Amino acid sequence: MHTHILPANLPRWSEKFGYGDFIHLEHHRQGFARMMQGDRFFREINENCWHPELRIEEYAKFGTQVQVVCTIPVMFSYWARPHDCLEVSKFLNDDLAELCVKYPKNYVALATVPMQDTDLAIQELERCKAIGLKGIQIGSNINDLNLSEDRFFPIFEACEKLNLAVMVHPWNMMGSANMTKYWLPWLVGMPAETSRAACSLIFSGVLERLPKLRVNLSHASGSFLATIGRVEHGFNCRPDLVAIDNPINPRDYLGRFWVDSITHDARMLEYVLEMVGSKRVSLGSDYPFPLGDLEIGKYIEDMNLPEDTVKDIFYRSTLEWLDMKEEDFL
Ligand SMILES: [Zn+2]
Repeated sequence: MHTHILPANLPRWSEKFGYGDFIHLEHHRQGFARMMQGDRFFREINENCWHPELRIEEYAKFGTQVQVVCTIPVMFSYWARPHDCLEVSKFLNDDLAELCVKYPKNYVALATVPMQDTDLAIQELERCKAIGLKGIQIGSNINDLNLSEDRFFPIFEACEKLNLAVMVHPWNMMGSANMTKYWLPWLVGMPAETSRAACSLIFSGVLERLPKLRVNLSHASGSFLATIGRVEHGFNCRPDLVAIDNPINPRDYLGRFWVDSITHDARMLEYVLEMVGSKRVSLGSDYPFPLGDLEIGKYIEDMNLPEDTVKDIFYRSTLEWLDMKEEDFL
């Protein structure tokens, strides 16, 4: 789980809608494209960002058959007018659905929805369910609003009802403007963002009120599990600040949500396994981006974990999160 993909071509939405820095692609040389945010260069990507067969080949090198794909968070477009974001989301989701129809043994997809408009988000969720997507990827905040806001609850409720999994991905990183140097938004902001999302979902009672909602937190939950002692202590020492919407200890939710395995550190992964159990740790890669675990799962294989634990991480926990079966891919 946790890989990113784009359609090979993107419409010029900025021109069509007449505003905004929507992303488009410039295929400026063989095998590469420039992601452009309006007129600004965002990043160069390799064709393994959009080439389904090449991705399957590259994955096979690491003994991996199935990729859970979702868009790149910069495509969320939560800042756009809701109907325009819906159009962008539909374009991306249709592309994902087609991919899964064409390669059902290799791809499972998570949708993107216009989170800034609750009704449109639910409408698109229902459509995505009908075209075979298995869940959604959402940002760790929505235009700086936390996932604890009441307006997002019906979306989570719909995910539970529709049996769609939820992956939380850090984006729109807090503090980015103050730490442009050293890639700090990615190295410091992203882990904090995922913890922000985890705390928001727990303290607001979203996980409590929706016991069947299946949430997976990116990058092993960012800094959340690493700071669970502090979070719990805060809950105990200042319940007047922390326990105002949910009286249950945050530690009680360990094992309730899923996380991916992207820690780049065997000892950290051991800790994560101890905290949430192997049935809640799913093999993530962040492929094809450089900060990902691009030798997919190799450091996990080198850890000499019990065979059952490895099977849980490599596929069983992801299958349970998606409510799918091993046979679906044989
Ligand atoms: Zn990612």
